[in-house]
Amino acid sequence: MMGIVFKLILLILLLCPLTINSSFQYLTFVQQWPRGYCTDNPANPNRCQRNPLPTVFTIHGLWPGNFTKILQNCTSSPYTSLRTFQDWNNRNLRWPDLTKPSPTAQTFRQEKFQSFWRHEWTKHGTCSENMYPQATYFSRTIQLSQRHNILNYLATSNIRPGSNPTVSSVNSTIYKAISNHVPDLMCVTPPRQTPVLVEIGICFNATMTTIIDCPSGFLRTRSCGTNTISFPA
Ligand code: AMP
Repeated sequence: MMGIVFKLILLILLLCPLTINSSFQYLTFVQQWPRGYCTDNPANPNRCQRNPLPTVFTIHGLWPGNFTKILQNCTSSPYTSLRTFQDWNNRNLRWPDLTKPSPTAQTFRQEKFQSFWRHEWTKHGTCSENMYPQATYFSRTIQLSQRHNILNYLATSNIRPGSNPTVSSVNSTIYKAISNHVPDLMCVTPPRQTPVLVEIGICFNATMTTIIDCPSGFLRTRSCGTNTISFPA
């Protein structure tokens, strides 16, 4: 009897680090504005080769988080490449790697054409794998993007590409669109220019059943300053 109890305790102790490592409490669903992400700046000149750029918000990722610490690279579970051009295209439609040109049916299997998805899975997806296995992780993220159309949300306040809204109007418009919850905005500021809108994050509880305020400790909204921002067309 004692032997079994001892072995059980040993097993729990051994498994503990694994559970701690991948215990996430919420998810940040991050969408990006391609014209914003692809804005040239000294740190990233000629960043994007995708042509034409999508004119809708596309997915950056779904990031499992913990209210107290950043979760990254939680397990060594490998990325599974998509094997058909149709699957590749379906995912690419909402989750494109903007830094790469579009491949053809002959070239899409090259590793570089899935490296963005591999990166997002390895760095973030693995941290919610206990709840969302890889195929589920990708399909649920795409479902979220079908559900949360940022261009439509912004249009309710007449905020459209090619304008210079105030950061507070963007923030409060998204806040209201997601039933009064705090979003996470991210901007980049090229030298001597106004901040450019790049990303908008919406936070969910672990089961993705409710939207929550994005935790204040990890908000990037201050990167957008306090006045007007550029929402480039
Ligand atoms: P993360 O590690 O998830 O924070 O993502 C940051 C990395 O992803 C950076 O190297 C970004 O340049 C890259 N990244 C973000 N959005 C895209 C995109 N749409 N296409 C390709 N790379 C991207």
